[in-house]
Amino acid sequence: MTAADELLADLDAIEPWHLDLYQDLHRHPELSFQEHRTAGLVEDRLTELGYEVHTGIGGTGLVGVLRNGDGPVVLARADMDALPVREASGLPYASTAIATDASGHETPVMHACGHDMHVTCLLAAAQLLADHRSAWSGTVIALFQPAEELGTGARAMVEGGLAARIPRPDVALGQHVMGLPYDTVASRPGPALSAADSIRITLHGRGTHGSMPHFGIDPILLGSAVVMRLNAIVSRELAPGHFGVVTVGAFQSGSKSNVIPESTTLLLNLRAYDDRTRKQLRAAIERIVRAECEASGSPAPPEFDYTDPFPVTDNSPQVHDRVSAAFTEHFGDKAVLMEPSTGSEDFSDIPNGLGAPYLYWIWGGFDPDDYRRAAAEGTLASTIPGNHASTFAPVMEPTFRTGASAMTVALMSYLTSS
Ligand SMILES: [Zn+2]
Ligand SMILES: [Zn+2]
Repeated sequence: MTAADELLADLDAIEPWHLDLYQDLHRHPELSFQEHRTAGLVEDRLTELGYEVHTGIGGTGLVGVLRNGDGPVVLARADMDALPVREASGLPYASTAIATDASGHETPVMHACGHDMHVTCLLAAAQLLADHRSAWSGTVIALFQPAEELGTGARAMVEGGLAARIPRPDVALGQHVMGLPYDTVASRPGPALSAADSIRITLHGRGTHGSMPHFGIDPILLGSAVVMRLNAIVSRELAPGHFGVVTVGAFQSGSKSNVIPESTTLLLNLRAYDDRTRKQLRAAIERIVRAECEASGSPAPPEFDYTDPFPVTDNSPQVHDRVSAAFTEHFGDKAVLMEPSTGSEDFSDIPNGLGAPYLYWIWGGFDPDDYRRAAAEGTLASTIPGNHASTFAPVMEPTFRTGASAMTVALMSYLTSS
């Protein structure tokens, strides 16, 4: 029996309290940077467990520190925010919450990305460590982050003075519940999640009557040429097999059939696994847009507004070796190699800001039989609701057990190292 197993023998005893907390968080989701109630519940719990708690880091972010003798300093992170989505899961504990978003609009809110599960699992691991101090030594930092969904919460904590409030971590750990069976934990060394940028591009034309196009410069035709060319970047400029995504998610222009409008706005999203590719994609986009504006005789240069930057999640091979070995010891053949994901996360801003190596892994929330049947039939996309779907609904109890176990096993792989 490993030291982690000794802690996890108590999971049955602490599970009811944590499942109550999970349902409570799920019923009361909060938008990014509005996680006041959630942070308050976490603060109360960490204080009860004997952690030294620091609140208000980067808005609603907080940390609990538990010092337990000599040994490594290990940081574990959970994100707390929910999404502006109307829940359609049909669960007895479904959210009916309404909140006011940053632009003053009322919106339904839902934990459609499972961050309520992340908070619950990290608190469970925090309790198991607090209850079994003789089984390990070192320092644990349990970090609860705001606003992951905006890609800015992790950076807000770093810029909000995180480093001054905590001992410097030797390693950082994070996890996410995703579309896998609930008995499965997946990790990989190297790039695991992509870097991302959103770009708002404004193209300027000259408005005129729709019957007299020769008096104007048509920004819809200009925008159309831009969209066609942008879609050739990945297929013609990146080496075949090299990962990159350029998506035009919105094309906004015009209001009436007989008016040529003044401008066109494009909203783009791009993804890459390294900064060199990210820069290459940005440069190609800007080059094409400027050249097409020139070709159209655009009266003003195009404008580029970069928003929602997410860093690449590039797992340390050394941390992966250690933690994945512990996962295999605990989960057996349900500890698997993760496929690189085209999704993005801001977790790595925290270890990067603190100079620590890190591992970010995923685990599943769905019935293994349903999952494997759908995978065999090629119907996964229609059977398993993805993160951010209004029907996203991890199966509560086994998902909690796997997530709480994975976090405990990973923490203990460092805290019992001496
Ligand atoms: Zn999300
Ligand atoms: Zn998420």
